[in-house]
Amino acid sequence: MRNLKFGAAAAALFAAAMAAPASAETTILSNVTVIDGTGKPAAPNSGIVMTDGKIAWVGPMSQLKAPKGATTRDLSGKYVMPGIIDSHVHVGMMKDVTQDVKFYDRANVETDLKIYAAYGVTAVAVAGTDKDVIFDIRNDLRKTRPTMARVFTSGQGLVFKGGYGGLFGLNVPVSTPEEARKAVAAEAAKGVDFIKMWVDDEREMIPNKMPYEITKAAIDEAKKRKIKVWAHVYYLEDAKELARQGIDGFAHIVRDKDVDQELIDLMKSKGTWQAASTLSREIVYSMAVMPWINDPFFTRGVTPGTLTALRSPEREKAVMLGAIRVPGLPYEKRLFADMGRTVVQAMDNYTALVKAGVKSGMGTDSGPNGRFPGFNAHEELSMEVMAGRTPLEAIKSATSENAAWLGDKTIGSIEAGKWADLLVLDADPLADIRNTKAIAAVYVAGNAVPTIWETCRDRPSTACTGGWKDRSPTPY
Ligand SMILES: [Zn+2]
Repeated sequence: MRNLKFGAAAAALFAAAMAAPASAETTILSNVTVIDGTGKPAAPNSGIVMTDGKIAWVGPMSQLKAPKGATTRDLSGKYVMPGIIDSHVHVGMMKDVTQDVKFYDRANVETDLKIYAAYGVTAVAVAGTDKDVIFDIRNDLRKTRPTMARVFTSGQGLVFKGGYGGLFGLNVPVSTPEEARKAVAAEAAKGVDFIKMWVDDEREMIPNKMPYEITKAAIDEAKKRKIKVWAHVYYLEDAKELARQGIDGFAHIVRDKDVDQELIDLMKSKGTWQAASTLSREIVYSMAVMPWINDPFFTRGVTPGTLTALRSPEREKAVMLGAIRVPGLPYEKRLFADMGRTVVQAMDNYTALVKAGVKSGMGTDSGPNGRFPGFNAHEELSMEVMAGRTPLEAIKSATSENAAWLGDKTIGSIEAGKWADLLVLDADPLADIRNTKAIAAVYVAGNAVPTIWETCRDRPSTACTGGWKDRSPTPY
Protein backbone atom coordinates (compact mmCIF):
# COMPACT_ATOMS: atom_id res chain seq x y z
CA MET A 1 0.00 0.00 0.00
CA ARG A 2 2.77 2.40 0.98
CA ASN A 3 4.55 1.81 -2.28
CA LEU A 4 1.36 2.32 -4.23
CA LYS A 5 0.67 5.60 -2.44
CA PHE A 6 4.21 6.80 -3.05
CA GLY A 7 3.85 5.83 -6.68
CA ALA A 8 0.64 7.86 -7.04
CA ALA A 9 2.21 10.92 -5.39
CA ALA A 10 5.27 10.69 -7.61
CA ALA A 11 3.05 10.37 -10.66
CA ALA A 12 1.08 13.46 -9.59
CA LEU A 13 4.29 15.45 -9.11
CA PHE A 14 5.53 14.32 -12.50
CA ALA A 15 2.21 15.35 -14.09
CA ALA A 16 2.41 18.78 -12.43
CA ALA A 17 5.96 19.27 -13.70
CA MET A 18 4.81 18.37 -17.21
CA ALA A 19 1.88 20.79 -17.02
CA ALA A 20 4.05 23.77 -16.02
CA PRO A 21 7.31 23.55 -17.95
CA ALA A 22 10.13 25.62 -16.50
CA SER A 23 10.45 27.51 -19.76
CA ALA A 24 6.88 28.90 -19.93
CA GLU A 25 6.63 31.62 -22.56
CA THR A 26 5.10 34.71 -20.99
CA THR A 27 4.27 38.00 -22.67
CA ILE A 28 2.73 41.01 -20.94
CA LEU A 29 0.61 43.51 -22.84
CA SER A 30 0.77 46.63 -20.69
CA ASN A 31 -1.03 49.99 -20.41
CA VAL A 32 -3.83 48.99 -22.76
CA THR A 33 -7.58 49.63 -22.79
CA VAL A 34 -9.33 46.26 -22.57
CA ILE A 35 -12.71 45.65 -24.22
CA ASP A 36 -13.22 42.12 -22.95
CA GLY A 37 -16.04 41.01 -25.26
CA THR A 38 -18.54 40.23 -22.50
CA GLY A 39 -20.29 43.58 -22.87
CA LYS A 40 -18.55 45.09 -19.85
CA PRO A 41 -17.40 48.70 -20.36
CA ALA A 42 -13.85 49.29 -21.57
CA ALA A 43 -11.16 49.09 -18.86
CA PRO A 44 -8.33 51.58 -19.44
CA ASN A 45 -4.84 51.19 -17.90
CA SER A 46 -5.06 47.42 -17.98
CA GLY A 47 -2.53 44.66 -18.38
CA ILE A 48 -2.81 41.18 -19.88
CA VAL A 49 -0.42 38.34 -19.03
CA MET A 50 -0.23 35.67 -21.73
CA THR A 51 1.45 32.39 -20.82
CA ASP A 52 1.94 29.65 -23.40
CA GLY A 53 -0.81 31.10 -25.56
CA LYS A 54 -3.45 31.48 -22.86
CA ILE A 55 -4.56 34.47 -20.85
CA ALA A 56 -3.05 33.92 -17.43
CA TRP A 57 -4.21 37.20 -15.91
CA VAL A 58 -6.03 40.39 -16.88
CA GLY A 59 -6.61 43.41 -14.65
CA PRO A 60 -5.55 46.93 -13.70
CA MET A 61 -1.87 47.81 -14.23
CA SER A 62 -1.67 48.79 -10.54
CA GLN A 63 -2.23 45.12 -9.59
CA LEU A 64 -0.02 43.52 -12.24
CA LYS A 65 2.63 41.16 -10.88
CA ALA A 66 5.06 40.55 -13.72
CA PRO A 67 6.25 36.94 -13.82
CA LYS A 68 10.04 36.50 -14.01
CA GLY A 69 11.44 36.34 -17.52
CA ALA A 70 8.32 37.80 -19.13
CA THR A 71 8.56 39.91 -22.29
CA THR A 72 6.63 43.18 -22.00
CA ARG A 73 4.97 45.03 -24.88
CA ASP A 74 3.91 48.56 -23.97
CA LEU A 75 0.56 49.17 -25.70
CA SER A 76 -0.02 52.72 -24.39
CA GLY A 77 -2.79 54.39 -26.37
CA LYS A 78 -4.00 51.12 -27.86
CA TYR A 79 -7.15 49.04 -27.44
CA VAL A 80 -7.48 45.28 -27.24
CA MET A 81 -10.58 43.19 -27.88
CA PRO A 82 -11.01 39.45 -28.36
CA GLY A 83 -10.27 38.18 -31.85
CA ILE A 84 -13.38 38.39 -34.02
CA ILE A 85 -15.34 35.16 -34.52
CA ASP A 86 -17.24 34.88 -37.81
CA SER A 87 -20.11 32.44 -37.36
CA HIS A 88 -20.84 31.92 -41.06
CA VAL A 89 -18.15 31.57 -43.73
CA HIS A 90 -17.11 29.32 -46.60
CA VAL A 91 -13.47 28.48 -47.27
CA GLY A 92 -11.19 27.08 -49.93
CA MET A 93 -13.54 27.42 -52.91
CA MET A 94 -12.18 30.44 -54.76
CA LYS A 95 -9.40 31.23 -57.19
CA ASP A 96 -9.62 34.95 -57.94
CA VAL A 97 -13.33 35.40 -58.81
CA THR A 98 -13.93 31.83 -59.92
CA GLN A 99 -15.77 29.60 -57.48
CA ASP A 100 -15.29 25.86 -57.97
CA VAL A 101 -15.15 22.80 -55.79
CA LYS A 102 -11.95 21.75 -57.59
CA PHE A 103 -10.02 24.55 -55.86
CA TYR A 104 -10.85 23.16 -52.42
CA ASP A 105 -7.73 21.68 -50.85
CA ARG A 106 -5.76 22.05 -47.66
CA ALA A 107 -3.50 24.79 -49.07
CA ASN A 108 -6.40 26.93 -50.31
CA VAL A 109 -8.30 26.52 -47.03
CA GLU A 110 -5.22 27.52 -45.04
CA THR A 111 -4.68 30.57 -47.26
CA ASP A 112 -8.21 31.68 -46.36
CA LEU A 113 -7.68 30.98 -42.65
CA LYS A 114 -4.52 33.14 -42.72
CA ILE A 115 -6.37 35.98 -44.46
CA TYR A 116 -9.11 35.80 -41.82
CA ALA A 117 -6.48 36.02 -39.09
CA ALA A 118 -4.75 38.97 -40.83
CA TYR A 119 -8.06 40.85 -40.53
CA GLY A 120 -8.35 40.00 -36.83
CA VAL A 121 -10.85 37.17 -37.38
CA THR A 122 -9.35 34.44 -35.21
CA ALA A 123 -12.10 31.81 -35.55
CA VAL A 124 -14.60 30.94 -38.28
CA ALA A 125 -17.46 28.47 -38.65
CA VAL A 126 -17.88 27.05 -42.14
CA ALA A 127 -21.49 26.61 -43.26
CA GLY A 128 -21.73 23.20 -44.88
CA THR A 129 -19.39 23.37 -47.89
CA ASP A 130 -16.28 21.56 -46.60
CA LYS A 131 -14.44 18.60 -48.03
CA ASP A 132 -13.40 16.01 -45.46
CA VAL A 133 -9.82 17.35 -45.26
CA ILE A 134 -11.34 20.07 -43.04
CA PHE A 135 -11.39 17.58 -40.15
CA ASP A 136 -7.60 17.12 -40.35
CA ILE A 137 -7.11 20.89 -40.54
CA ARG A 138 -9.50 21.58 -37.64
CA ASN A 139 -8.08 18.84 -35.45
CA ASP A 140 -4.48 19.91 -36.12
CA LEU A 141 -5.35 23.51 -35.20
CA ARG A 142 -6.94 22.27 -31.97
CA LYS A 143 -3.81 20.29 -31.04
CA THR A 144 -1.41 23.20 -31.38
CA ARG A 145 -1.12 26.96 -30.93
CA PRO A 146 -2.35 28.02 -34.38
CA THR A 147 -0.99 30.82 -36.56
CA MET A 148 -4.23 31.12 -38.53
CA ALA A 149 -7.93 31.32 -37.72
CA ARG A 150 -9.44 28.38 -35.84
CA VAL A 151 -12.12 26.53 -37.75
CA PHE A 152 -15.45 24.92 -36.93
CA THR A 153 -17.17 22.82 -39.56
CA SER A 154 -20.64 21.71 -40.59
CA GLY A 155 -19.09 19.23 -43.02
CA GLN A 156 -21.33 18.84 -46.03
CA GLY A 157 -24.68 20.46 -45.33
CA LEU A 158 -28.01 19.00 -46.42
CA VAL A 159 -29.39 20.18 -49.76
CA PHE A 160 -32.76 19.05 -51.12
CA LYS A 161 -32.61 17.27 -54.46
CA GLY A 162 -33.02 19.84 -57.23
CA GLY A 163 -33.07 22.61 -54.62
CA TYR A 164 -30.97 25.58 -53.59
CA GLY A 165 -27.72 25.46 -51.63
CA GLY A 166 -24.40 23.77 -51.16
CA LEU A 167 -21.30 23.85 -53.28
CA PHE A 168 -21.90 22.51 -56.77
CA GLY A 169 -20.22 19.13 -57.14
CA LEU A 170 -19.75 18.60 -53.40
CA ASN A 171 -22.99 18.36 -51.44
CA VAL A 172 -24.94 15.17 -52.15
CA PRO A 173 -28.64 16.07 -52.26
CA VAL A 174 -31.26 14.26 -50.18
CA SER A 175 -34.79 13.56 -51.35
CA THR A 176 -36.44 11.67 -48.47
CA PRO A 177 -36.51 11.88 -44.66
CA GLU A 178 -34.64 8.56 -44.56
CA GLU A 179 -31.85 9.95 -46.74
CA ALA A 180 -31.68 13.02 -44.51
CA ARG A 181 -31.30 10.82 -41.41
CA LYS A 182 -28.52 8.86 -43.10
CA ALA A 183 -26.76 12.06 -44.19
CA VAL A 184 -26.88 13.43 -40.63
CA ALA A 185 -25.52 10.15 -39.27
CA ALA A 186 -22.68 10.21 -41.82
CA GLU A 187 -21.71 13.81 -41.00
CA ALA A 188 -21.93 13.09 -37.26
CA ALA A 189 -19.61 10.10 -37.69
CA LYS A 190 -17.01 12.39 -39.24
CA GLY A 191 -17.17 14.67 -36.19
CA VAL A 192 -18.96 17.78 -37.45
CA ASP A 193 -19.48 20.66 -35.04
CA PHE A 194 -22.90 21.43 -36.58
CA ILE A 195 -25.41 20.10 -39.08
CA LYS A 196 -26.30 22.68 -41.73
CA MET A 197 -29.21 22.62 -44.17
CA TRP A 198 -30.58 24.88 -46.86
CA VAL A 199 -34.30 25.73 -46.88
CA ASP A 200 -34.84 28.18 -49.71
CA ASP A 201 -35.95 28.42 -53.31
CA GLU A 202 -33.97 31.55 -54.21
CA ARG A 203 -36.99 33.83 -54.61
CA GLU A 204 -39.03 31.08 -56.25
CA MET A 205 -36.45 30.79 -59.03
CA ILE A 206 -35.61 27.19 -58.07
CA PRO A 207 -38.68 24.96 -57.94
CA ASN A 208 -37.68 22.52 -55.18
CA LYS A 209 -37.49 23.68 -51.57
CA MET A 210 -36.65 21.23 -48.79
CA PRO A 211 -39.96 19.93 -47.36
CA TYR A 212 -40.65 20.16 -43.62
CA GLU A 213 -40.75 16.38 -43.20
CA ILE A 214 -37.10 16.32 -44.23
CA THR A 215 -36.03 19.21 -42.02
CA LYS A 216 -37.84 17.48 -39.13
CA ALA A 217 -36.01 14.19 -39.76
CA ALA A 218 -32.63 15.97 -39.89
CA ILE A 219 -33.28 17.95 -36.72
CA ASP A 220 -34.46 14.87 -34.81
CA GLU A 221 -31.47 12.82 -35.95
CA ALA A 222 -29.00 15.56 -34.99
CA LYS A 223 -30.64 16.07 -31.60
CA LYS A 224 -30.26 12.37 -30.83
CA ARG A 225 -26.52 12.94 -31.24
CA LYS A 226 -26.54 16.27 -29.37
CA ILE A 227 -25.31 18.16 -32.43
CA LYS A 228 -26.69 21.64 -33.11
CA VAL A 229 -28.56 22.20 -36.37
CA TRP A 230 -28.70 25.45 -38.29
CA ALA A 231 -30.41 26.37 -41.51
CA HIS A 232 -30.15 28.79 -44.34
CA VAL A 233 -33.57 30.48 -44.37
CA TYR A 234 -35.14 33.30 -46.32
CA TYR A 235 -38.89 33.08 -45.66
CA LEU A 236 -40.64 34.01 -42.42
CA GLU A 237 -42.94 30.97 -42.57
CA ASP A 238 -39.97 28.59 -42.92
CA ALA A 239 -38.20 30.21 -39.96
CA LYS A 240 -41.32 29.72 -37.81
CA GLU A 241 -41.77 26.08 -38.76
CA LEU A 242 -38.09 25.28 -38.21
CA ALA A 243 -38.19 26.99 -34.82
CA ARG A 244 -41.24 24.86 -33.93
CA GLN A 245 -39.30 21.77 -35.01
CA GLY A 246 -36.54 22.72 -32.59
CA ILE A 247 -33.80 24.02 -34.87
CA ASP A 248 -30.91 25.62 -32.96
CA GLY A 249 -30.10 28.55 -35.23
CA PHE A 250 -30.58 30.44 -38.46
CA ALA A 251 -27.71 31.12 -40.85
CA HIS A 252 -29.40 34.23 -42.26
CA ILE A 253 -32.01 36.79 -41.28
CA VAL A 254 -35.57 36.36 -42.59
CA ARG A 255 -35.71 38.55 -45.69
CA ASP A 256 -39.08 38.14 -47.41
CA LYS A 257 -41.09 40.24 -44.99
CA ASP A 258 -41.06 41.80 -41.53
CA VAL A 259 -40.47 39.36 -38.68
CA ASP A 260 -43.50 39.23 -36.40
CA GLN A 261 -44.18 38.65 -32.73
CA GLU A 262 -44.94 34.96 -33.34
CA LEU A 263 -41.41 34.31 -34.66
CA ILE A 264 -39.84 36.38 -31.90
CA ASP A 265 -41.84 34.49 -29.23
CA LEU A 266 -40.91 31.15 -30.79
CA MET A 267 -37.20 31.99 -30.95
CA LYS A 268 -37.14 33.30 -27.39
CA SER A 269 -39.11 30.42 -25.89
CA LYS A 270 -37.15 27.76 -27.78
CA GLY A 271 -33.75 29.47 -27.39
CA THR A 272 -33.30 29.66 -31.17
CA TRP A 273 -30.26 31.65 -32.22
CA GLN A 274 -30.06 34.19 -34.98
CA ALA A 275 -26.69 32.52 -35.41
CA ALA A 276 -25.42 34.75 -38.21
CA SER A 277 -26.46 38.27 -39.11
CA THR A 278 -25.15 38.20 -42.73
CA LEU A 279 -26.16 41.83 -43.42
CA SER A 280 -23.01 42.52 -45.44
CA ARG A 281 -23.88 39.54 -47.64
CA GLU A 282 -26.86 41.40 -49.02
CA ILE A 283 -25.21 44.75 -49.64
CA VAL A 284 -22.62 43.43 -52.06
CA TYR A 285 -25.34 42.42 -54.50
CA SER A 286 -27.03 45.80 -54.39
CA MET A 287 -23.94 47.68 -55.52
CA ALA A 288 -23.06 48.24 -59.15
CA VAL A 289 -19.71 49.63 -57.96
CA MET A 290 -18.02 48.50 -54.77
CA PRO A 291 -17.14 51.69 -52.86
CA TRP A 292 -14.13 49.99 -51.26
CA ILE A 293 -12.56 48.86 -54.52
CA ASN A 294 -9.48 51.09 -54.01
CA ASP A 295 -9.34 50.99 -50.22
CA PRO A 296 -6.03 49.38 -49.18
CA PHE A 297 -7.87 47.71 -46.28
CA PHE A 298 -9.72 45.77 -48.97
CA THR A 299 -7.13 45.41 -51.73
CA ARG A 300 -4.43 44.00 -49.45
CA GLY A 301 -6.61 40.97 -48.76
CA VAL A 302 -7.35 39.94 -52.36
CA THR A 303 -5.33 38.69 -55.32
CA PRO A 304 -4.32 40.83 -58.33
CA GLY A 305 -6.63 38.63 -60.43
CA THR A 306 -9.56 39.42 -58.16
CA LEU A 307 -8.91 43.17 -58.39
CA THR A 308 -8.62 43.09 -62.16
CA ALA A 309 -11.93 41.25 -62.44
CA LEU A 310 -13.73 43.46 -59.95
CA ARG A 311 -12.51 46.63 -61.65
CA SER A 312 -13.55 45.47 -65.13
CA PRO A 313 -16.79 46.51 -66.81
CA GLU A 314 -17.76 42.86 -66.66
CA ARG A 315 -17.73 42.98 -62.86
CA GLU A 316 -21.44 42.53 -62.38
CA LYS A 317 -21.44 39.48 -64.57
CA ALA A 318 -18.41 38.03 -62.81
CA VAL A 319 -19.82 38.58 -59.36
CA MET A 320 -23.49 37.93 -59.92
CA LEU A 321 -23.23 34.86 -62.09
CA GLY A 322 -20.47 33.39 -59.99
CA ALA A 323 -22.35 33.91 -56.79
CA ILE A 324 -25.81 32.84 -57.77
CA ARG A 325 -24.97 29.99 -60.09
CA VAL A 326 -28.22 29.75 -62.00
CA PRO A 327 -27.78 29.22 -65.74
CA GLY A 328 -29.30 32.06 -67.72
CA LEU A 329 -30.28 34.04 -64.64
CA PRO A 330 -31.21 37.61 -65.56
CA TYR A 331 -28.96 39.65 -63.31
CA GLU A 332 -29.92 43.08 -64.54
CA LYS A 333 -31.85 45.89 -62.90
CA ARG A 334 -34.72 43.91 -61.43
CA LEU A 335 -32.34 41.75 -59.44
CA PHE A 336 -30.27 44.68 -58.19
CA ALA A 337 -33.45 46.44 -57.11
CA ASP A 338 -34.65 43.26 -55.42
CA MET A 339 -31.34 42.85 -53.62
CA GLY A 340 -31.42 46.48 -52.51
CA ARG A 341 -34.80 45.87 -50.94
CA THR A 342 -33.42 42.74 -49.31
CA VAL A 343 -30.67 44.72 -47.54
CA VAL A 344 -33.23 47.03 -45.99
CA GLN A 345 -35.49 44.12 -45.02
CA ALA A 346 -32.61 42.21 -43.43
CA MET A 347 -31.51 45.25 -41.43
CA ASP A 348 -35.06 46.00 -40.25
CA ASN A 349 -35.52 42.40 -39.13
CA TYR A 350 -32.12 42.30 -37.46
CA THR A 351 -33.06 45.41 -35.48
CA ALA A 352 -36.39 43.88 -34.44
CA LEU A 353 -34.81 40.57 -33.36
CA VAL A 354 -31.99 42.02 -31.28
CA LYS A 355 -34.24 44.68 -29.69
CA ALA A 356 -36.54 41.83 -28.62
CA GLY A 357 -33.59 40.04 -27.00
CA VAL A 358 -33.17 37.14 -29.44
CA LYS A 359 -29.68 35.64 -29.12
CA SER A 360 -27.66 36.79 -32.08
CA GLY A 361 -24.15 36.28 -33.44
CA MET A 362 -22.10 38.11 -36.05
CA GLY A 363 -21.67 36.17 -39.29
CA THR A 364 -20.88 37.31 -42.82
CA ASP A 365 -21.32 34.40 -45.25
CA SER A 366 -17.97 35.47 -46.70
CA GLY A 367 -15.90 33.18 -48.89
CA PRO A 368 -18.08 32.76 -51.99
CA ASN A 369 -17.64 35.14 -54.88
CA GLY A 370 -18.03 38.81 -54.01
CA ARG A 371 -17.92 38.30 -50.22
CA PHE A 372 -14.44 38.71 -48.89
CA PRO A 373 -12.77 36.77 -46.06
CA GLY A 374 -12.03 39.00 -43.09
CA PHE A 375 -12.90 42.25 -44.84
CA ASN A 376 -16.62 41.51 -44.64
CA ALA A 377 -16.46 41.01 -40.87
CA HIS A 378 -15.61 44.68 -40.43
CA GLU A 379 -18.45 45.66 -42.81
CA GLU A 380 -20.77 43.44 -40.81
CA LEU A 381 -19.87 45.14 -37.52
CA SER A 382 -20.54 48.56 -39.13
CA MET A 383 -23.89 47.35 -40.44
CA GLU A 384 -24.89 46.01 -37.03
CA VAL A 385 -24.27 49.50 -35.66
CA MET A 386 -26.22 51.06 -38.56
CA ALA A 387 -29.05 48.72 -37.60
CA GLY A 388 -29.14 50.16 -34.09
CA ARG A 389 -26.65 48.24 -31.96
CA THR A 390 -24.00 50.05 -29.96
CA PRO A 391 -20.38 49.31 -30.90
CA LEU A 392 -20.03 47.48 -27.56
CA GLU A 393 -23.00 45.23 -28.44
CA ALA A 394 -21.68 44.63 -31.96
CA ILE A 395 -18.29 43.56 -30.57
CA LYS A 396 -20.03 41.27 -28.06
CA SER A 397 -22.03 39.64 -30.88
CA ALA A 398 -18.78 38.90 -32.73
CA THR A 399 -16.91 37.55 -29.70
CA SER A 400 -18.52 36.12 -26.54
CA GLU A 401 -21.94 35.63 -28.13
CA ASN A 402 -20.49 33.78 -31.09
CA ALA A 403 -18.39 31.63 -28.75
CA ALA A 404 -21.59 30.77 -26.88
CA TRP A 405 -23.31 29.80 -30.13
CA LEU A 406 -20.30 27.66 -31.07
CA GLY A 407 -20.34 26.11 -27.61
CA ASP A 408 -16.63 26.87 -27.11
CA LYS A 409 -15.71 28.11 -23.64
CA THR A 410 -12.03 28.61 -24.50
CA ILE A 411 -12.43 31.61 -26.84
CA GLY A 412 -14.51 34.77 -27.27
CA SER A 413 -13.55 36.92 -24.29
CA ILE A 414 -10.51 38.34 -22.54
CA GLU A 415 -10.65 36.37 -19.30
CA ALA A 416 -8.11 34.28 -17.42
CA GLY A 417 -7.96 30.72 -18.73
CA LYS A 418 -9.07 31.50 -22.29
CA TRP A 419 -6.86 31.36 -25.36
CA ALA A 420 -5.04 34.63 -26.05
CA ASP A 421 -6.86 35.26 -29.35
CA LEU A 422 -6.64 39.04 -29.45
CA LEU A 423 -7.13 41.99 -31.77
CA VAL A 424 -5.04 45.05 -30.86
CA LEU A 425 -6.24 48.37 -32.30
CA ASP A 426 -4.68 51.81 -32.72
CA ALA A 427 -8.03 53.58 -32.32
CA ASP A 428 -11.10 53.17 -30.12
CA PRO A 429 -13.76 50.89 -31.68
CA LEU A 430 -16.32 52.04 -29.12
CA ALA A 431 -15.95 55.64 -30.34
CA ASP A 432 -16.39 54.49 -33.95
CA ILE A 433 -16.91 50.86 -34.91
CA ARG A 434 -14.93 51.43 -38.13
CA ASN A 435 -11.85 51.66 -35.93
CA THR A 436 -11.76 47.85 -35.85
CA LYS A 437 -9.85 48.39 -39.12
CA ALA A 438 -7.01 50.17 -37.28
CA ILE A 439 -5.35 46.82 -36.67
CA ALA A 440 -2.04 47.07 -34.77
CA ALA A 441 -1.56 43.39 -33.97
CA VAL A 442 -3.40 40.08 -34.03
CA TYR A 443 -2.67 37.18 -31.70
CA VAL A 444 -3.90 33.63 -32.13
CA ALA A 445 -3.12 31.56 -29.03
CA GLY A 446 -0.56 34.21 -28.12
CA ASN A 447 1.18 33.98 -31.50
CA ALA A 448 1.50 37.33 -33.27
CA VAL A 449 0.37 36.71 -36.86
CA PRO A 450 0.90 39.04 -39.87
CA THR A 451 -1.87 41.65 -39.96
CA ILE A 452 -3.57 42.98 -43.09
CA TRP A 453 -1.38 46.07 -42.72
CA GLU A 454 1.68 43.83 -43.02
CA THR A 455 0.27 41.72 -45.89
CA CYS A 456 -0.09 42.69 -49.55
CA ARG A 457 -1.78 39.87 -51.38
CA ASP A 458 -2.65 42.30 -54.18
CA ARG A 459 1.00 43.01 -55.10
CA PRO A 460 3.08 39.98 -54.30
CA SER A 461 6.18 41.16 -56.18
CA THR A 462 6.56 44.67 -54.74
CA ALA A 463 7.38 45.90 -51.27
CA CYS A 464 4.45 45.89 -48.88
CA THR A 465 4.40 49.37 -47.40
CA GLY A 466 1.90 51.64 -45.68
CA GLY A 467 -0.34 51.18 -42.68
CA TRP A 468 -3.79 51.58 -41.24
CA LYS A 469 -3.80 55.36 -41.67
CA ASP A 470 -3.89 54.73 -45.45
CA ARG A 471 -7.36 53.25 -45.21
CA SER A 472 -10.03 55.15 -47.06
CA PRO A 473 -12.15 57.49 -44.96
CA THR A 474 -15.26 55.75 -46.29
CA PRO A 475 -18.74 56.31 -44.93
CA TYR A 476 -19.38 52.59 -44.38
ZN1 LIG B 1 -23.38 30.51 -46.54
